[in-house]
Amino acid sequence: MTTFSAAGPSSLVVTEARLRSGEVVDVHTAGGTVTAVVPTGSRPVPPEAVLVPAGGGLVTEPFVDAHLHLDKVRTLPLIGDAALEAYTADGMADSARGIDLARAVKQHYRVDTLLPNIRQALADGLRHGVLHVQAFADVDTAAGLVGLQAVLAAREEFRDRVDVAVVAFPQDGVLRDPGAAELVEEAMATGADVVGGIPWIEAGTAEQEAHVEWACALAARLGRRVAMLTDDAPDPAYDTTRMLAEAMRRHGLEGRGVACHARAVGHYDAARQDALLDLAREVGLGLVSDPHTGSVALPVERALERGVAVALGQDDIEDAYYPFGRHNLLEVAFLAAHLLDMRSAPQLEVLVDLVTTSAARVLGLTGHGLREGGPADLLVHDATRTVDLLARHEPPRVVIRRGRELA
Ligand SMILES: [Zn+2]
Repeated sequence: MTTFSAAGPSSLVVTEARLRSGEVVDVHTAGGTVTAVVPTGSRPVPPEAVLVPAGGGLVTEPFVDAHLHLDKVRTLPLIGDAALEAYTADGMADSARGIDLARAVKQHYRVDTLLPNIRQALADGLRHGVLHVQAFADVDTAAGLVGLQAVLAAREEFRDRVDVAVVAFPQDGVLRDPGAAELVEEAMATGADVVGGIPWIEAGTAEQEAHVEWACALAARLGRRVAMLTDDAPDPAYDTTRMLAEAMRRHGLEGRGVACHARAVGHYDAARQDALLDLAREVGLGLVSDPHTGSVALPVERALERGVAVALGQDDIEDAYYPFGRHNLLEVAFLAAHLLDMRSAPQLEVLVDLVTTSAARVLGLTGHGLREGGPADLLVHDATRTVDLLARHEPPRVVIRRGRELA
């Protein structure tokens, strides 16, 4: 387990830090805040400061994982490949059947068996510089509150190292799974942070609308954010991303909503895509793409061009939907470079944004960003160029949180 001394240094300076702009700077921090970003050597280093020589390596903001099914980590061996095959077969044409098959895994749910895998995922993320996670925990009549309790326990264990926002997520729907809505309300009272939803899984348009309305009304009543999985299939008939955006406006949830997957949007015609993306920008609906876990993806660059906040997410780690995953967002970005055809130098910079600054915008994290006055949360990399950062996708050499070096 990663630890640091209780007192910690009051000031820390990263020297010869290469910003992604190419500038080489010293980053001075004190009391957990960045106090100065100045050309290297232009300001004396306080004698009491902890010195972290970056040696010209890139220094970035920490990674933000905007979408991870944390309760499901390493549960694939418990149920085998049938759900995974159904989720991905024929270009995801029957992905909903995969979700139904995956439900069986929850008969194995116990806090003491889930917790070690959850812990490992957060520790792996920490090693890879992931300091913020939006973690989905299934809350439904199969899982009850067991998955949530395991995720909440891990959130407490990692409290001083990783910020975990827990989404109470009714994986099988709320109209399709009577009782799930009440469990989500109970989950919110128990300590979950974000109201979850998955409207596209419901039986028809009216049920999808009702699902979105229920979740947004609950989030508004509790003063919380909302995060949903929308339109996770290659079928333009799905329209729940728009439903979510409209409901956010109705309920005064502007800037407090996230839609993950939204793969169907990639199958809309250009005019419909732009109308949806403009609506998402207007209501502050952030989008999360996970192109490595399915064969279709939302149009990430088009969304960015329309001014929408977009992130990449790890999504799954060895569960019924995806057999890999190390909680390494540089690996996720590397895969996205291929899957989204983003390989030019400017596009590589965008890919890094999608797991740092842009992902922070998606989650509404105000305390994120390498700047004077910002939090002293920094990653020191061996790579000196963005292309190497992505190509090698190695763990950072040093992870700094609140001005302290995590061991
Ligand atoms: Zn997902």
